[in-house]
Amino acid sequence: MTPLGEEIARIVALEGPIGVERYMGLCLGHPRFGYYMTRDPFGAAGDFTTAPEISQMFGEILGLWCADAWIRMGSPDPILLMELGPGRGTLAADALRAMRRVPGLREAVRVHLVETSPVLREVQRATLAEAGAPVAWATDVSELPDGPALILANEFFDALPIRQYVRTPQGWCERLVGTDASGALAWGLSPERETWLDGAAGPEGAVLEIAAAAQRIMGDLASRIADQGGVFLAVDYGHARSGLGDTLQAMKKHAFVDPLAEPGEADLTVHVDFAALGRTARRTGAAVHGPVTQGALLHVLGLSARADALSRARPDRAADIAAAAERLAGSDEGQMGDLFKALAVTQEGFGPPAGFDVPPLSAETEA
Ligand code: SAH
Repeated sequence: MTPLGEEIARIVALEGPIGVERYMGLCLGHPRFGYYMTRDPFGAAGDFTTAPEISQMFGEILGLWCADAWIRMGSPDPILLMELGPGRGTLAADALRAMRRVPGLREAVRVHLVETSPVLREVQRATLAEAGAPVAWATDVSELPDGPALILANEFFDALPIRQYVRTPQGWCERLVGTDASGALAWGLSPERETWLDGAAGPEGAVLEIAAAAQRIMGDLASRIADQGGVFLAVDYGHARSGLGDTLQAMKKHAFVDPLAEPGEADLTVHVDFAALGRTARRTGAAVHGPVTQGALLHVLGLSARADALSRARPDRAADIAAAAERLAGSDEGQMGDLFKALAVTQEGFGPPAGFDVPPLSAETEA
C-alpha cells in the first residue's frame, strides 16, 4: 500500500469509513502525500497532458479571448487576471504573451493564481518570471482581491472532491471508502439513507454525484462578477446536462487505474456537470453562456489561422502544429474537441463573449 493508503486505513480504523469527498481530498491535497502536493504530473513523462501543455495556441487564444472581454468592459486599469489551478503556469504565460499585442492591457494586468500545491507554485513562479506582470498566489478563491477580473480555469473543476450516493432499496446511501478483511481499501455504503435525497429519481445501483466544492467556488466567482464585473471561462472534461453515473477515475502514466489502488500516486478526476455549475452561477444574478465544445470555441476564435501562422514561421514543425490543433479541437477518439466543454460567466447585459454567440449545447446535441 502507498504511504497515504496506510494513513487512510488508520483514519478508517479510528473514525470508520470516510466519504468519497474526503478520500479524494486526501488523495489530491494531503500536505505530505497528496498527488498534487508532491509532484509536477504533466507531460509525456508524467501521468497526463492538458491542453496548454499540448500547444501554446491554447493559452494564446484564451488570452485574446480575455483581451476582447477587457476591451468590451471598457478597458479597466488595473484589471485582475486570475487563474484557478494553473498547473505549470503555461496557459497564463501563453495568454500574457498574446495580450501584449493589445495596447495598455499588459500594463494594467495583475495576475492572481489560485494554487494549493507548493511544488506547482514554484513551477509557476519560474514559468512566469519573464511574463512582465506582477504575480500573486492564493490558496482559495475567498482570498482573492476585489475588482473587475478576467478569470480562467482549465481542468480545475475536475480535480475538486465530490460526494457520491448510491441508490439502494432503502433510498440513496453515501458511497464510502473503508477497509476489507485483509486491510485493503474497499468501497462501502453508509447504513443510513440520506432522506434529503428521497425526491431524486434513479434505478437501483445508480450513482448520484454532488460536487459541493465546485459549486461553492462557482458561486463565489459568479457573485463577484455580478457585483464587480468581469468574465469567467471554465474549460473541462464534462457533460452539458446533469445525469447519473460514477465518473470518478484514476490515471497514472497515461492509463486508467483503480481509484483505490494507489492513493496519492495516481491523479483522481471526475466529469464536470456544466448544467449544475451554470445553475449555481445564474442563481447569483450573473449571466451564463454555453456550454459550447472546446473544438467549436477554438475554431471560432481562430485556431486554424493561428496554426497556419505558426507553421509559416516554423515550416519544419508544420506537421506537429497541425497534429496539436487536431488534438485540441478534433472530435475523433483521443481528441479533446467534443469531450471538453467551455462555460462562460459574465455580468447580466454584457452579452455573449467571443465564441459564445451560438446556441448552447443541449441534451439533444451533446456528443
Ligand atoms: N490548468 C492546468 C492544470 C490542471 S491540473 C493545465 O491545464 O495544465 C489541476 C490544477 O489544480 C493543479 O495545478 C492543482 O495543483 C490545482 N488544484 C487542485 N485542487 C485545487 C484546489 N482545491 N485549490 C486550488 N488548486 C487546486
